[in-house]
Amino acid sequence: MHENLKKEDKEVYEILLKEEERKKKTLEMIPSENHTSLAVLETLSSVFNDKYAEGYPKARYYGGNEHIDEIEVLCQERAKELFGVPFCNVQPYSGSPANMAVYFAALTPGDKVLGMHLNAGGHLTHGWKVNFSGKYYNSFFYGVDKETSLINYDEVEEIAKREKPKLIFAGTTSYPRIIDFKRFREIADSVGAYLCADISHISGLVVARAHPTPADYAHIVTTTTHKTLRGPRGALIMVTKEGVEKDKELPEKINKAVFPGLQGGPHEHQVAAIAVCLKEAMKPSFKEYGKQVVLNAKTLAKELIKNDFNIVSGGTDNHLLVLDLRNKEISGKKTQELLEKAGIIVNKNAIPFDPKPPATPSGVRLGTPAITTRKMKEEEMEKIAKLIRKVVDSKTENVALEVKKEVEEMCLQFPIY
Ligand SMILES: *Cc1c(COP(=O)(O)O)cnc(C)c1O
Repeated sequence: MHENLKKEDKEVYEILLKEEERKKKTLEMIPSENHTSLAVLETLSSVFNDKYAEGYPKARYYGGNEHIDEIEVLCQERAKELFGVPFCNVQPYSGSPANMAVYFAALTPGDKVLGMHLNAGGHLTHGWKVNFSGKYYNSFFYGVDKETSLINYDEVEEIAKREKPKLIFAGTTSYPRIIDFKRFREIADSVGAYLCADISHISGLVVARAHPTPADYAHIVTTTTHKTLRGPRGALIMVTKEGVEKDKELPEKINKAVFPGLQGGPHEHQVAAIAVCLKEAMKPSFKEYGKQVVLNAKTLAKELIKNDFNIVSGGTDNHLLVLDLRNKEISGKKTQELLEKAGIIVNKNAIPFDPKPPATPSGVRLGTPAITTRKMKEEEMEKIAKLIRKVVDSKTENVALEVKKEVEEMCLQFPIY
């Protein structure tokens, strides 16, 4: 592979080989990552990359877009079928610009938005102060309950009724439980707000029927395509039947917000690769994949608890879990570093009401999407829990390096391709 690159540019080629080797020999347990198929990777490195296609199918600002139109329409049709929605824009460069386009379509600067607090598991683009969403819009936050670590829907309702936001975000990056989209919609309706379900983390589970769909409740659904959906980097913005009923111009507003509001030429190689990942996600085997992702996460949570770990909210219903490390007297940062030495890739993460600052939070976030793509099952989760304990309890680099050998052996038994 990479014959041409090898000839043309040794430097890049060699770094690429090292990255391939790293992926091969480590357990990727960051819940927002995955291993895409070779079909997706091939499409990404195809001639679709070269074309300028500002505009939309049949209404482009450049010539020569006959086949680009075909690929973009195919991608739209697959997304609509898979998620059960009447409209989908497939052009957003990534999840953050997709959410930005939703603000542009539904709000004017200064309008009120309600999202989940970052420390509770929300995303930067849901109103955080250093992000465009908190700078140009008036943002308010809901969190989780101090006792249960679950979303407190009564609190969401109370804040919504007090602040009357025009847009409510339901979507998270580190919340391990099922989201009640129906309840969110009732709250949105009580104040006339748009409800946007940002299912970036869970879209693969949604299409696998391993998490309830927001399509019957949210007006707008956004998702990245590179997390549990297992596609290229990119994003989708969908308007549901409910959304069209609330505002029949919403699809047009979304299209205008993406182009010319926010972006120029779409990345059509990315759009083509999204089409491929959507086809993969339609297969029965993807349903099995999604179910196994959840089963693996639940098993991992159970085994970690057996190994004397505390887990935020006591477990998980989806693809991720957050370790609360306060009983282990080690920071999330140190844990991330030691586990990386052992070949287990995780990320430090705040726990709800974290007493520590964001740079050295009290938790780490673990997920099963990528290791499930490698076909690992419950038995491996049991092993991984023990390995994590060994590293964290020892707090030493030597033990981490010992564990690394076991991790590599395991990885070799479960090749990515
Ligand atoms: C990952 C994520 C995003 C942003 O996606 P990027 O592609 O990193 O910009 C937005 N919202 C949620 C909930 C996410 O998990």
